[in-house]
Amino acid sequence: MAKIQMKTPLVEMDGDEMTRVLWKMIKDTLILPYVDLKSEYYDLGLAHRNETNDQVTVDSANATKKYGVAVKCATITPNAARVEEYHLKEMWKSPNGTIRAMLDGTVFRAPILVEGINPYIPGWKKPITIARHAYGDVYKNTEMRVDAGCKAELVVTHPDGTETRELIHDFKTPGIIQGVHNLDKSIESFARSCMNYALDLKQDLWFATKDTISKKYDHRFKDIFAEIYEAEYKEKFEAAGIEYFYTLIDDAVARTIRSNGGYIWACKNYDGDVMSDMVATAYGSLSMMTSVLVSPDGVYEYEAAHGTIQRHYYKYLKGEPTSSNPVATIFAWSGAFRKRGELDNIPELVDYAGKLEEATIQTIRDGVMSGDLAALCTIPNKQVVGTEAFMAAIGERLAALLA
Ligand code: NAP
Ligand code: MG
Repeated sequence: MAKIQMKTPLVEMDGDEMTRVLWKMIKDTLILPYVDLKSEYYDLGLAHRNETNDQVTVDSANATKKYGVAVKCATITPNAARVEEYHLKEMWKSPNGTIRAMLDGTVFRAPILVEGINPYIPGWKKPITIARHAYGDVYKNTEMRVDAGCKAELVVTHPDGTETRELIHDFKTPGIIQGVHNLDKSIESFARSCMNYALDLKQDLWFATKDTISKKYDHRFKDIFAEIYEAEYKEKFEAAGIEYFYTLIDDAVARTIRSNGGYIWACKNYDGDVMSDMVATAYGSLSMMTSVLVSPDGVYEYEAAHGTIQRHYYKYLKGEPTSSNPVATIFAWSGAFRKRGELDNIPELVDYAGKLEEATIQTIRDGVMSGDLAALCTIPNKQVVGTEAFMAAIGERLAALLA
């Protein structure tokens, strides 16, 4: 069989530890036999980030802006222990944080559903995609403890030096205060990313805040979404037969539990942090989630939501058997191939991406799976296999589908 030809290169960001091992296995077993892979390779492994003073991360983000589609392996975010382990020059920042800041993106996370791995909420038949705003609010806050007898105020200093003040609280007894902010332009990008993604997936978009209580802050989010929807997206949504739906955050939570899924839920930063863990857990686990960063100008970076599976890697280094789950990393590749195929008009590449996903799901449905899935799965006669055997089983099914 002739290999599938690509036009534009994919930006390939290699990573660390067990996921780096999975990355190579996926390429060798599931990709290179079928696709004449055109990629621009960036090694974001921690050793190479350290050698390049993290320039490689910046370069990979710039390449993503240039070519439009990237696929990223999980990477170590260094802490003190890693500085020692890898003899780092400094505690380099999280690559995901750097890339997200450069692409100004929104992260969309959705569960990968397989019959036999049942959500804890039986009504959830279709995936719920969480879109998390990744800027500001409590993640960029300033906080203070306040003593009794102090008065706390919000002060805004204008360019001409004049001040606007508002009382926060007159403290008769000790307490705490917190200052948070967001930016219109960041909220606007968030809104556009969500609306573009809803059009891509042809799914309804929900958005929720606490605007009844937060009449300026949360209300600004609500207004910006509404203005952008009316001005730029209403007609496109109607043509696609999808809906933009705004409600209060508490109502959204209640409706989500009652829903059958199948929509995108745009969340403010904190709501998205909390709700994505709830949704991932309710559907199964992080190793069964897809994750894609979408920038407002339509650049896509696909990745797995989990980390580098450090514990498994140390076992692997000692030659002990491992049973790591490659599904999220495989779906990062398939997502990137599908998008590249759509943008470059290569139907064979889109078809290959679909079959790669089908082969993966079929393998699990046939009862062949990694240890973490076996713990969740109700399929009879399930068989827990090692990392290599799982990959080989997917490879056999993929070969059959593509034959
Ligand atoms: P982790 O890699 O997500 O793994 C935590 C535990 O979850 C594993 O020990 C394993 O449990 C289970 N697990 C996660 N993914 C799995 C998979 N695909 N297959 C099977 N089991 C899986 O988190 P971590 O070990 O705490 O973090 C390791 C490194 O990842 C850290 O340096 C962190 O900075 C980095 N990280 C990177 C990203 C990213 O690049 N997107 C995200 C998060 C964390 P058992 O050991 O019980 O089997
Ligand atoms: Mg969280």
